[in-house]
Amino acid sequence: MGADGPLLDHWFDRGRSLAPGGPALCVGQQTLTYDALDREVSALAGPLAADGRRRVGILAARSVTAYAGFLAALRAGACAVPLAPDAPPDRLTAVAAAAGLDAVVVDASGAAGLATLLPLFGPDAILAADLPDPPLGARIRRPGPPGPAHAPARHPDDLAYLMFTSGSTGAPKGVPIRHRNVSAFVRAALDRHDFRPGDRFSQIHELTFDLSMSELFLAWGSGACLHVLNRLQALAPARLAGRRITVWHATPSLAASLRIAGRLDPGSLPDVRTTLFCGEPLTTGTARAWHAAAPGSLIDNLYGPTEAAVACTGHRWDDADDAPDDATVPIGEPFPGVHTLVVDEDGTPADTGELCLRGAQVFTGYLDPAEDEGRFLDHAGQRWYRTGDRVRRDPGGGLVHLGRADSQVKIQGYRVELGEVAAALRAVAPGAEVAVLTVGSGTGPHLVACLMGGEPVTQAEVLGRAARRLPAYMMPRLLWWVPAPVLNANGKVDRPYLRRVAERRLASMQSS
Ligand code: AMP
Repeated sequence: MGADGPLLDHWFDRGRSLAPGGPALCVGQQTLTYDALDREVSALAGPLAADGRRRVGILAARSVTAYAGFLAALRAGACAVPLAPDAPPDRLTAVAAAAGLDAVVVDASGAAGLATLLPLFGPDAILAADLPDPPLGARIRRPGPPGPAHAPARHPDDLAYLMFTSGSTGAPKGVPIRHRNVSAFVRAALDRHDFRPGDRFSQIHELTFDLSMSELFLAWGSGACLHVLNRLQALAPARLAGRRITVWHATPSLAASLRIAGRLDPGSLPDVRTTLFCGEPLTTGTARAWHAAAPGSLIDNLYGPTEAAVACTGHRWDDADDAPDDATVPIGEPFPGVHTLVVDEDGTPADTGELCLRGAQVFTGYLDPAEDEGRFLDHAGQRWYRTGDRVRRDPGGGLVHLGRADSQVKIQGYRVELGEVAAALRAVAPGAEVAVLTVGSGTGPHLVACLMGGEPVTQAEVLGRAARRLPAYMMPRLLWWVPAPVLNANGKVDRPYLRRVAERRLASMQSS
């Protein structure tokens, strides 16, 4: 198999041969060369491979162990399952059980979560390189001596990673991605750009969000260095002059927040050569503001669901574009090997409707096959994944994103099913009808919830209980209780009315 894939970790090997002795990872004050990072990977991969681990949780964030652990799981022939160290305990155990984890790599940030997960694991299943004082002593194993003790036979059809996204039925749903799916993305994205050794990529997104796969493997696939930035650094990019980031991955929400906070001064990001926007609709206004701050940067608007391995269409924004600020930048044309179909509500091909995908990057089905129900369409003898995204075919710019056909929303770049939030609130406020809505604001929508009927409850009580299950970004910013359902003339929950109430309450919270 060639050094450039189709196995995901072969892109790291490729970087190592493109930039011999060059830097691969910069975390805090520490810079690791490709060779040094490779040694860390081998030290973790050895014991994982020797024990034949198949599903390896990575309970680590922004540390050498997090990146080495992810690569080690792949090299050991296992599927990597990123876990958020700050995930609420019930969510962590639900994900670990659904994924069928048989080992976990943990760093210092994962210590608290490890205590939650430990009862699920047998001896030697927990690998920790940098837990200074293992809270659970004997059950924790240290990485072995570097060396490819076992080189398991691997295939591009093997699972590379399993990501969990918000599920409308109330539990997170697992999206299995194979090596060949994500390698096709890496190859397509590298072919669109001229990344090279010497480039410095920002790494902002959590490993649980698949945009991070683009940050890691486009950097390593081109022999560049990954610069790990924390949230505060990401929110003040112009102050990172010392890092001289040349390639940014950003969600439009991040750029909009910077713009509103006055942190995108014209010319303030002179080193940036390429910016990849992904994850949400990009407005022309945001693209313009970014371009003013980073005038030397090409802007690529990438689109894709986790189910199609990070991103599968793209459109290069042209700074001569004279569309109004609130226009949405097209999501463009599909990547090589990806096929698109637009269908109306009856599943008939149309110019405007739901976008369906098939091809090299597209997954074959959810971890739980029950989740496949209604998500696939058979057309012309092919099986298509229904994205839930509404698009229009535009002869000039390819596909244009028009919004969602369901109740999935993005909160600060995170994918959230309103149904999952409602299910969690219902579980902690029995007897209440629950309406979860979004209310717009300059930096993106906020989640709000109205509980109707059942026992009177306060926001603090309900959110306190829901915190075991919902991560911070899924917690409603405002929650209120009313004694009876608020219905419109058709007997349905009057969502526009509730939205107006929420807007008033949020405005008064902000002004007080
Ligand atoms: P995720 O699985 O978290 O990557 O979220 C995928 C969803 O994010 C897509 O189905 C779209 O609704 C939205 N999305 C991603 N990229 C874009 C984009 N460039 N423009 C509009 N929506 C996007």
